[in-house]
Amino acid sequence: MNQSFDVVVIGAGPAGYVCAIRAAQNGLKTACVDDWKNLDGKHAFGGTCLNAGCIPSKALLESSEMFHKAQHEFAAHGIQVGNVKMDVAAMQARKTRIVQTHTGGIALLFKGNNVSGIAGRARLLKNGTVEVTDFGDPKQKEILESKHIVLAAGSEPVELKVAPFDGKNIVDSWGALEFSAVPKRLGVIGAGVVGLELGSVWHRLGSQVTMLEAMEQFLFMADQQIAKEAERQFRKLGLDIRLGAKVTGASQGKSGVAVNYEDKEGKHAIEVDKLIVAVGRRPATRNLTEDGSAVKFDPRGFIQVDEECRTGVKNTWAIGDCVRGPMLAHKGSEEGIMVADLIAGKIAEMNYDVIPSVIYTWPEIAWVGKTEEELKKQGVKYKAGTFPFAANGRANAMEAGSGRVKMLAQADNDEILGVHILGPMASELIAEAVTAMEFRASAEDLQRTIHAHPTLAEAMHEAALAVDKRAIHVLNR
Ligand code: NAD
Repeated sequence: MNQSFDVVVIGAGPAGYVCAIRAAQNGLKTACVDDWKNLDGKHAFGGTCLNAGCIPSKALLESSEMFHKAQHEFAAHGIQVGNVKMDVAAMQARKTRIVQTHTGGIALLFKGNNVSGIAGRARLLKNGTVEVTDFGDPKQKEILESKHIVLAAGSEPVELKVAPFDGKNIVDSWGALEFSAVPKRLGVIGAGVVGLELGSVWHRLGSQVTMLEAMEQFLFMADQQIAKEAERQFRKLGLDIRLGAKVTGASQGKSGVAVNYEDKEGKHAIEVDKLIVAVGRRPATRNLTEDGSAVKFDPRGFIQVDEECRTGVKNTWAIGDCVRGPMLAHKGSEEGIMVADLIAGKIAEMNYDVIPSVIYTWPEIAWVGKTEEELKKQGVKYKAGTFPFAANGRANAMEAGSGRVKMLAQADNDEILGVHILGPMASELIAEAVTAMEFRASAEDLQRTIHAHPTLAEAMHEAALAVDKRAIHVLNR
């Protein structure tokens, strides 16, 4: 049976489902097709973010952080607890409940907004229609006709040839969220976002974690003052981070996974019980379009699009992880909204210069805009101000007085160019900087904005003051 729509979205991750809801809000007859299957074999909307990424990892980060606090921080508050134990099964069950609440929520939102949510595998055909095959029976096909098609197929973990996934002991980020017991020795290839977050989870629960990172520089994409301070803190917590380490092989042996790597000093071998491979993601665009379709891909598989996410093929758009730009849920969602509004004939645009990045470690790392290294490279004249959480009352009351807020502003007109945070709730604090930069605020605008006391946000206020050497609670040098 053929069905026809105004908009068909392929993929129901944070880019696709948000696009579908906004399209329906705009009065367009919309369908969203998605083929995600969970480990129980059941389909769920939400893509990687809800099922196997952002949401479950944050659930585990919260549980493991509480466990860590009970062991290491409660005593400072005068709270005496006995031998604290972690019930991993209960922690995992809580995570699954949270995931199901959110994926079920999308199904309800689809229903409430009259989006036809379709479970199945979709492919864009040469003639511009969308073929949907059923999971169970590949012969059962449905053709969807649509005025507009939005490709939002997401991304998948990169596999290393020298360390192929075995689904049990050599796993990707999803596998690392599903361990049923705390591995005694955990290896992580890649000290990027996934490696640091999942390495932190299992380290807090008791794993001895070794991270092998190919780059010589820790968090090369972050502001290096913040990255260096973060590296020191993570090492102090006990993460064994080995930089400049190129993995040459990993395979299951009798007593564990044998991992070989090389660095400046030569060849090394370690043995771990579980190995997480977290070396990046690639667009999940294989078989997304029929051969001969005019949609173009770059050599890495990203769908080629312009600033407005148009593919160049009439009424065909692409958004989220399967197109250029950072692979971040919030970037994909905003592209989804832009495209749904453009389809509805509204004015819409995306500010690619002001996309926040967050790493959910403890302390958290968050930033928006330019790093100091980027400004230097571009020859931009800037002023910098930093304020340490050690001088912030609320942070100390939280037993979290480490890290800092760093603000960079243009030297001549004072416009904020970048904000970088290492510290408690950095993920929440960065929102103020994002809003300020979206409105092209100056450091002085934030200096003159009243921040409640005592709050962590005062560190942002003080960093703005420090840009002009006017911070109150530290000496300005
Ligand atoms: P990443 O790009 O953040 O980090 C991968 C790291 O692996 C890099 O530091 C890289 O140098 C290193 N690496 C690559 N090949 C290697 C090798 N052979 N040996 C050793 N190290 C190697 O990728 P990721 O951590 O896998 O995350 C994937 C994507 O998902 C990213 O785009 C990330 O932004 C996104 N993500 C975001 C969040 C968040 O926003 N908090 C959380 C998880 C994932």
